Amino acid sequence: MECRLDGQVAIVTGASSGLGEAIALLFGKAGASVVVNYHGNRDSAEDVAERIRADNGRAIAIRADVGEEAAVSALFARTTEHFGAVDILVANSGIQQDASLSEMTLQQWQAVIDTNLTGQFLCMKEAIRQFRAQSQRSASRARGKILCMSSVHDVIPWAGHVNYAASKGGTAMLMKSVAQEVAAEGIRVNAIAPGAIRTAINAENTEGEAGQRLLQLIPYGRIGVTEDVARAALFLVSDMADYVVGTTLYVDGGMTLYPGFRNNG
Ligand code: NAD
Repeated sequence: MECRLDGQVAIVTGASSGLGEAIALLFGKAGASVVVNYHGNRDSAEDVAERIRADNGRAIAIRADVGEEAAVSALFARTTEHFGAVDILVANSGIQQDASLSEMTLQQWQAVIDTNLTGQFLCMKEAIRQFRAQSQRSASRARGKILCMSSVHDVIPWAGHVNYAASKGGTAMLMKSVAQEVAAEGIRVNAIAPGAIRTAINAENTEGEAGQRLLQLIPYGRIGVTEDVARAALFLVSDMADYVVGTTLYVDGGMTLYPGFRNNG
């Protein structure tokens, strides 16, 4: 049995770049109709959708700020108008605005929480309402699937990034609590926690000397690529993972093994 998504509709938020882009492209290859959500970069989102279509897939790009309730409702409404249903949500959008705690402005705190945590809440809420509103679909054993994009910083504290770490710690419990709430309806909710994956969000930390230092934190000895996360995402939303409910899959080359303790700490 392969990880296929034929006949299913997937919304991937923040899919104009990085992990979201790789997930959208792979889901398209796996047979899903894909909504490439974007915030600022329309051209990139249209390009991702076009690449899916050029590969014989189905895709459209839709703009929405995931932190705004009306925009998220409109994203789901346009998706159902265009593709008729929603089977999969990947709540992937996320930002960083770094500062030490004493220097962090309320605006920096709020911006990160709004996108990374409230954005997940709004998208999950809309997805669950949609799953309930539509009759059970035949393409998947589950009534609906939600995948939250967390981070290793849902368990590893991160000085200088407390807004980000708090948002991802919040995502971990949001995911589990929602999973517990809706599992009996046949809705599967899970999360992926990536380690260091080379994308725009962390370009400064993954290149050159900084990249070499980072490798000391990764037992598997390489920085991740977006496809590492996309393959894990495909598995988790496919029927291959039909009994996986309320779990966070760490895709991190072993970063959460705390390699600093390898030689007796
Ligand atoms: P990225 O910057 O390429 O992607 C983030 C995406 O979110 C962008 O496409 C951006 O436009 C979108 N976005 C930002 N604000 C938005 C908003 N208000 N509404 C809708 N979309 C919005 O970086 P990435 O690495 O691909 O990050 C994707 C997710 O993975 C994030 O949640 C990030 O926290 C998480 N993550 C990444 C890594 C990594 O190493 N790259 C590690 C752990 C977690």
